[in-house]
Amino acid sequence: QVTVASDIEIARAARKLPIQTVGEKLGIDADSLIPFGHDKAKISAGFIDRLKDRPDGKLILVTAINPTPAGEGKTTTTVGLGDGLNRIGKRAVICIREPSLGPCFGVKGGAAGGGYAQVVPMEEINLHFTGDFHAITSAHNLLSALIDNHVYWGNELGIDTRRITWRRVMDMNDRALREIVSSLGGVSNGYPRETGFDITVASEIMAILCLANDLADLEQRLGNIIIGYRRDKSPVFARDLKADGAMTVLLKEALQPNLVQTLENNPALVHGGPFANIAHGCNSVVATKTALKLSDYVVTEAGFGADLGAEKFFDIKCRKAGLTPSAVVLVATVRALKMNGGMAKEDLGQENVEAVRLGAANLARHLENLGKFGVPAVVAINHFVSDTQAEVDCVKAVATELGSEAVLCHHWAKGSAGIEELAHKVIQLAEKDSKFSTLYADELPLFTKVETIAREIYRAGAVTADKAVRQQLAEWEMQGYGHLPVCMAKTQYSFSTDPTLRGAPVGHGVHVREVRLSAGAGFVVAITGEIMTMPGLPRSPSSERIFLGQGGQIEGLF
Ligand code: ADP
Ligand code: MG
Repeated sequence: QVTVASDIEIARAARKLPIQTVGEKLGIDADSLIPFGHDKAKISAGFIDRLKDRPDGKLILVTAINPTPAGEGKTTTTVGLGDGLNRIGKRAVICIREPSLGPCFGVKGGAAGGGYAQVVPMEEINLHFTGDFHAITSAHNLLSALIDNHVYWGNELGIDTRRITWRRVMDMNDRALREIVSSLGGVSNGYPRETGFDITVASEIMAILCLANDLADLEQRLGNIIIGYRRDKSPVFARDLKADGAMTVLLKEALQPNLVQTLENNPALVHGGPFANIAHGCNSVVATKTALKLSDYVVTEAGFGADLGAEKFFDIKCRKAGLTPSAVVLVATVRALKMNGGMAKEDLGQENVEAVRLGAANLARHLENLGKFGVPAVVAINHFVSDTQAEVDCVKAVATELGSEAVLCHHWAKGSAGIEELAHKVIQLAEKDSKFSTLYADELPLFTKVETIAREIYRAGAVTADKAVRQQLAEWEMQGYGHLPVCMAKTQYSFSTDPTLRGAPVGHGVHVREVRLSAGAGFVVAITGEIMTMPGLPRSPSSERIFLGQGGQIEGLF
């Protein structure tokens, strides 16, 4: 009963259908699929264009309570619920993010689900996949090259090389490149300046690709990127460098969503993967909208806990794309509840009903917050083998006390057979009329938006920012960016900005240290605490255990 196989072993044993057959289930003809091998394909832009007048299915968001460092199984539950809905006879499509290649060689497990709720081919999805991230890397670095080239050839635009904000990216955890000096080596190499690398998923182009409606919109947004400022602090745009056209060319294929399948042969769109801190952390709008046209239910995931992920999903993605979510699944694990109840990470394997009850304050807060967006929610208890009956009963009792319901789910161990009850519950919730609304209006001043999120969602007391930050926001408002939503960058481990403050803290201070304008993506980033946009590798990286087996199969990838 207890599964012992690793994720990669389970994935490798999958009986995959040819991707054309998966496409047929959604009514996509073979001509409209652009196959990448036998089990991956892109859906053509022309086909997507022809779907415009079809009605939309219902959108289900999977989010979570504040997690343990291991992750609470949002992706696993998203995949499991998609399979569960198909199992009970509904037409459902899963929409998740593409994993980043770099972190696979560090500590992180895969990001294609787990156990018997996975999308396949998991090795390829986790590594090069269909090349989208490579395309984003190329488009990003083309712009970087054009900036230094423009300065080299006389700097007609008057770019202040000390104020260039556009850096370079690569899809690798490489701390050595965080801060660098470029153009060393003499006159023919240009003008030395400080710059650095971020990981590809932190590129604004990733966020842009995920929020763009179509190629024309993509090109427009690319042109709107601010690459830096002049001495008089006026912005210089990518369009000023005539970069938008060529960047769009590099991203033409990448904008088309990728179709793969679950272990149970149900369709999944795996497309785009922006950071959940300095960006909004959801899969692409194009994939979500396409899936809504092709099925009755779309199950999708937002990164981090609901305080960040769900808030950004609603306030950035849904607001900008005009999406109306019908129901929310709030994933909770007994382990994370115990951690929120004050237990140390090392002790989470031991039964402790009292800690579950204490930690449920975190669950309660998230449920209350989700209510503020007007979308009905249900709790999914993602079952771990270490959970005891008394602990599970406690979670259920707490959910009932809160006027909600918690459903125990065994999809990780049993696939769709373990999540039927949740599937039925979600359909029932989605039948109700969604009263979805965003948390704040476009017209509010930028800092008021930050305050609203901090007070309403984080339950903060004082919300502060240095004078320079407030001045910067005022400048952007004057330049016409005041209507943009704000994208909060905060720790995922707490409602507060202190990762050790578990449970449901109130009255804590939120300090905005820095603000950034992603003018192409269309949001203002408010940064609290330290945000890492180029991860490093641990002392013993997982790459040491990754190798090709005798039969050419990949081993050691989690
Ligand atoms: P998230 O999307 O919330 O970050 P994932 O779904 O990616 O979380 O899961 C994180 C890790 O936990 C994965 O390696 C997955 O295999 C594992 N996992 C998820 N659910 C379970 C479970 N019920 N039992 C054991 N491991 C699980
Ligand atoms: Mg995930």
